[in-house]
Amino acid sequence: MCGIVGYIGHREAYPIIIKGLQRLEYRGYDSAGVALFDKQGIHLCKTKGKVAELATKCSADLNTQAVMGIGHTRWATHGEPNDINSHPHLSNSGDLVIIHNGIIENYETLKIELENRGYNFTSDTDTEVLVNLIEEVQKQEKVKLGKAVQVALSQAVGAYAIAIYDRKKPNEIVVARLGSPLAVGIGDNEFFIASDASPFIEYTKSAIYLEDGETAVIRIGKEIKVRKIKNDSIVKPYVQELQMNLDQIEKGGFDHFMLKEIYEQPEAIRDTYRGRMLPEKGIIRMAGVDDHLSKFLNARRIIVVACGTSWHAGLVAEYIFEDLARIPVEVEYASEFRYRNPVINKNDVIIAISQSGETADTMAAINLAKENGAFVFGVCNVVGSSISRASDAGAYTHAGPEIGVASTKAFTTQITVLSLIALKLGKEKGSISISDFNMYLQELELIPDKIEKSLQINEHILKVADFYKNAKNCLYLGRGYNFPVALEGALKLKEISYIHAEGYPAAEMKHGPIALIDEEMPVVVIATRKGHYDKVVSNVQEIKSRKGKIIAIVTDGDQQVSKIADHVISIPDTFEAFTPLLTTIPLQLLSYHIAVMLGKNVDQPRNLAKSVTVE
Ligand code: GLU
Repeated sequence: MCGIVGYIGHREAYPIIIKGLQRLEYRGYDSAGVALFDKQGIHLCKTKGKVAELATKCSADLNTQAVMGIGHTRWATHGEPNDINSHPHLSNSGDLVIIHNGIIENYETLKIELENRGYNFTSDTDTEVLVNLIEEVQKQEKVKLGKAVQVALSQAVGAYAIAIYDRKKPNEIVVARLGSPLAVGIGDNEFFIASDASPFIEYTKSAIYLEDGETAVIRIGKEIKVRKIKNDSIVKPYVQELQMNLDQIEKGGFDHFMLKEIYEQPEAIRDTYRGRMLPEKGIIRMAGVDDHLSKFLNARRIIVVACGTSWHAGLVAEYIFEDLARIPVEVEYASEFRYRNPVINKNDVIIAISQSGETADTMAAINLAKENGAFVFGVCNVVGSSISRASDAGAYTHAGPEIGVASTKAFTTQITVLSLIALKLGKEKGSISISDFNMYLQELELIPDKIEKSLQINEHILKVADFYKNAKNCLYLGRGYNFPVALEGALKLKEISYIHAEGYPAAEMKHGPIALIDEEMPVVVIATRKGHYDKVVSNVQEIKSRKGKIIAIVTDGDQQVSKIADHVISIPDTFEAFTPLLTTIPLQLLSYHIAVMLGKNVDQPRNLAKSVTVE
């Protein structure tokens, strides 16, 4: 899940690599390292900790103006985060140096074989095994680095994006990928290597995204050569023109990416429906759905596969699809689905949701669904990502880069895309009337303004956060459409503030969680006027009777719950199906402020990484 960066060209490599690693830190940040290459050989500097710590260490240790190098920011899978396990890793001879994102699953067997041949290992990583395997292939078969990488990777099982350098061939870097992303930016007589395009966006907008099973030799002054790892066949790479720009990946005056991204939601949602939803014409146009309409209309059921926050968006989709389009929906954790021999057939439509489009388990679930003949529709944010390419069709969320590890705008834009699809299918199937369909479109168009209004209560939420910041536990309750929002609210709190939190359907409270309620326990209740309001009011009474502290998310003008709750956060009224788009906003802000007050690293919470490319 790490971030990898490389540069080969005419500029000083070090600042490009350090800045690039900082942009990729969302992918992992427990240790970092850099290797620079010049006439004297390989200059290595690595450390436990963040890229900022690496920069401090290297500025003293590295003395070179090298125009070639590689760097890594790690999310440890094999071996604790420490200086030795940090990448880059050298081979035993010291000739080869590698950075790796992913897991070599059969590393133990390979390690024993290499140890029997006299290799020593200093780290606990699978990566050090891989670099020595490549060295051994070079030795045995007397082949160049590119070929040795192909042979070694054919023996490796698992996932990788690698960049490797051989000091005996000082003008080239070899890269390869299977299951982890790898982009190559193509500049003027220079190349950039990175896990995504953010490290090189200010230098070039032309990039090649390596496909799974491909390797490339990158040489100064030469065209990039891409081949299939398995059969050595030459592939003509597709050069993409990137749409991303620099201010999208900078904080723009906000203290944290998470806060910036919370505030970007109105515009992000407009970008999601722009050109797709045409209320004046009474239509929704989505190429990915239009071109495969019969697949959706004849679907026996929809199976949503996703992980984390995307899974919560999938749960919201279950309510919307069943409610408006009357299609049965199952929502699955991709990691469970792929391993439990699920029943899938060709009349199933799989909707795979992933912000990064690189989530390893979701990718594996897609492959399983495709093997069983199901139609796969991807909902991703990152354009050109693996899941978007592996899907039969799809719709991008167009939320712009999301860098904060805690997902915010990805969630609301995923719900927006899924709502558009459900509405479109509902209209096609006749399960909602034309006039209701038109009303929904008009209302959805108002949602960004209503989110803007919800963001105006930030100061009030700050006070609520201050009141509850020292809580040890917190309960989140919601019903119907807002049950998934309760789960998402609890997830946001635990992932960035490390306060234990649970989300529950409000009615389930009586089957267990109510035992936890006392005067120490804050309970966030989503009690919008739509959707089982009276039942939620009763639940609020039950909490109050047990002295729980109630933070209620209510609709503007609410009377009943507001009288009982300790703190009230009020949001604009909307249709029940769209309430998650509004109720989630104060919960994001509440978690954000509590985490900041507790001094936590909001954008890079401990142990987490944004794009989960390991299984
Ligand atoms: N498996 C490698 C390690 O533990 C790479 C992990 C990563 O992708 O950061 O060092």
